[in-house]
This record gives sequence, structure tokens and C-alpha cells, in this order.
Amino acid sequence: MTYPMSDEDREIQAKARAFVDELIPFEPEAEMNGGELPPEVLKQAEARVRELGFEAINMPKELGGGGFTTFQQVLVQEQVGRATNALAWVIHTPASWLPAVATDYQMERWVRPTITGELRECYAITEEGAGSDVDGITATARREGDDYVLNGVKWHVTSFNLSEYVFFQAKLANGPHAGSHAMFIMDVDTPGIRVVRTPAYSHTIAHHHPVVAFEDVRVPASHLIGTEGEGMTFAHEWFRYERLMIGARSCGAAERLIDEVTAFAGERRAYGKPIGHYQGIQFMLADSLTELWAARLMTYRAAQAIDEGVDRKIQHAQCSMTKLYASEMANRVADRAVQIFGGRGYMRENVAERFYRELRVERLWEGTSEIQRVIIADQLFKRGAQTLVG
Ligand SMILES: Cc1cc2nc3c(=O)[nH]c(=O)nc-3n(C[C@H](O)[C@H](O)[C@H](O)COP(=O)(O)OP(=O)(O)OC[C@H]3O[C@@H](n4cnc5c(N)ncnc54)[C@H](O)[C@@H]3O)c2cc1C
Repeated sequence: MTYPMSDEDREIQAKARAFVDELIPFEPEAEMNGGELPPEVLKQAEARVRELGFEAINMPKELGGGGFTTFQQVLVQEQVGRATNALAWVIHTPASWLPAVATDYQMERWVRPTITGELRECYAITEEGAGSDVDGITATARREGDDYVLNGVKWHVTSFNLSEYVFFQAKLANGPHAGSHAMFIMDVDTPGIRVVRTPAYSHTIAHHHPVVAFEDVRVPASHLIGTEGEGMTFAHEWFRYERLMIGARSCGAAERLIDEVTAFAGERRAYGKPIGHYQGIQFMLADSLTELWAARLMTYRAAQAIDEGVDRKIQHAQCSMTKLYASEMANRVADRAVQIFGGRGYMRENVAERFYRELRVERLWEGTSEIQRVIIADQLFKRGAQTLVG
């Protein structure tokens, strides 16, 4: 490794890498089984996560989390990205923005059990008619006495099938903050919540993304996160975090692909020579490695800037630039890897085929590439290049 980091950072990185290396051999089996690991392997992996101290690495130590720096989280997430089929998602990172706004009741009921790994959460924000434009949501929250009554149909609710509770974003239907956003937390088995359908997606992972209806779901006011009107703030906080981690996982995926395809290019012979001998192949490898290095430097530096306390608006722009560049880089690398593997690269048992499908979503979720460009350009006009990348 060429990037300067402390011995502690390097140790964390090595441990995460070794853990993910243990999962990689299960990928083809998971691919053929809806993304599922054999139950005993999953159990063992979850136990290893706890043993390694990788449960809730993004949460403060005083709450029982790992208390990792942002840079250390990036080092772990980069390794998570090296496995296909989301096998390394057993390293779970709860909503890091929550402790700052959660009430004592919410802390005890949901946050602390999530940090200890007993509970899992999912997010219901996107709707059929509102994705990039989150303000276009039509879900409503109507205050009735001490309760709120929630209605709306949410799309792509990732991990709903594996979660105990859900965050639901809606617009307030009445009261002094009518029309503004509010976020609620509730158990997934709250009456009125139902799965409408579970569509199939390009990737094969155990976490589903169902369409979920919330029909007259009645929750006490104690289930409101923060205050009325604050709903969008939390989403932004989470987007920033996840965009950086997508950058990290994209780098991990690209490194894995480059490793695999370089080995293949050294072995596979055509016209009497290893294909790595031909410049057509060499150029694809060289471009992939060069772009990976650029993406990794961006990701690491953006993480360290957050640890150093850089202004939030700059963080926002830098996380968007990292996600944009690293996710697009990883897609280019996957495309070249399929090409270098030839026909094998089109087989589901091949790592390049799986990543070719799986990495596509990194350019879509947590804000599409176009939305990242909108954010970056907006910040450029407001703050100038020197402030953002100088
Ligand atoms: C696998 C998967 C899992 C997901 N998980 C979750 C989840 O757990 N919870 C959740 O709430 N959401 C989730 N999402 C939703 C995801 O965040 C949205 O799909 C994403 O933000 C894009 O929204 P959209 O699909 O509605 O696309 P749209 O907003 O309809 O965009 C369509 C196209 O228009 C472009 N576009 C839109 N506005 C502009 C503009 N201003 N300038 C230029 N181009 C523009 C977009 O870039 C895109 O190319 C998930 C999505 C997927 C695919």
C-alpha cells in the first residue's frame, strides 16, 4: 500500500481484508441461491464480525459502537466492496445521525439494540413518482391527538425482508408545519404496513427491495424523529455518509476485478502467448489501475477531510465527487474485466459477470450520477474550485 496511514489503520484494513477473503469462496453458491449464504456460514460470519469489532463501526464507543474514524470506516467498506452478492453486508452500519436526535425512548427501543446487532433497519423514502426529487413525495403524516397517521407507498425499500424497523419519510398533512417533511421510526410489523410486491433486480442478494404500502399506520408522537419539518436534514446526512462509502466499496470492487483479471491475463493463452502480452489487453489493465488509484486517493482524502472537521458543504461536494467518479470508474473496470475474460466473463459463476450487474446500481442509488453532478456544479458556483479541491 502506498497511501500513508497509521499502524492501527493498517491493522484494521488487514483484518477486514482477511474477513472478506473468507467470504469470497461462497459467491458462486450465493449467486445460485438468491444471494443467501448457507445458514451456518452466515452465523459464523456474524460471529466473526462481532469478534473483530466490526459491528456498528460508525457508532460512538460510548454507545457500544466501534468509534472508528471516517477514514477507518472507508478502509473497512473498501474491503466490503471486494465481495459480490453483498456477502460482506454482514458488516452493518446503523444510522449514525440518529443518536444526536433520538429521544431516550428511541435510543432504548431501537438505537442501542441496533448497535449490539439485535435489530436491523431499513429506509422508506423513495416513491414511484419521487426519487431524485425527494421533495416530490406524496406520503402523508396527519397529526391526530397524540398520534400520527401515516399513508404512502414506498419503492425500493432495501433490506425490508431482513429488518425489524423502518424509517418512513412523509409530508405533514396538517398543523403548523403542514407541507414540510417529517421522519418516523416504527417496527415493520406495525398494523397497516404491507409488502405490495417484491420485484426482481439485476443483482442477486439476500436483501430485497420491495414496494411497501403504509395504510393508515397509526404511531404515537414518540415515533417522530427530531421535530416536525426536520425530515430532509436526516436524509441529507445519510446521503453524504453513504455516498462516501459507495466510493469506498467501488474501489474495493475495482481492486478485486483488477487482481482477478490480471491473473487471468497472465495464464490464458491465445495465438501461442498469454493474452496479457497483447497491448489491447494491457491498455485495459493499465487504464483500470490508473483510474482505481485516482478514485482511491479521492476517497481516502475525502474521508480524512471529514475527520479533520472540514466544512459540511465542502464535505457534501467532495462526497458527491467521490461517489460520482469511483462508481463510474468501477463500472468501466467491470466492463473491461468482462471483455478480458471473454466468454467466461458472461458466466454467472465469474466474478466479472456478477460485478458487471451489481456495480450498475452504484450509479443510481443515493443519488444518480446526474444528481451528483448537479450538486457538484452548484457547489462550484457557490464556493469555487480552490475551496472544493484546492
Ligand atoms: C436497488 C435499489 C435500492 C434502493 N434502496 C432504497 C432504499 O432503501 N430506500 C429508498 O428510499 N430508496 C431506495 N432506492 C431509490 C434510489 O435512491 C432512487 O432510485 C434514486 O435516487 C433515483 O431515483 P429514481 O429511481 O426515482 O429516478 P428518477 O428520479 O426518476 O430519475 C430518472 C432519470 O432522470 C435523471 N434526473 C432526474 N432529475 C434530474 C436533474 N435535475 N438533472 C438531470 N437528470 C435528472 C436521473 O439521473 C435519472 O437518470 C433504491 C434504488 C435501487 C435501484
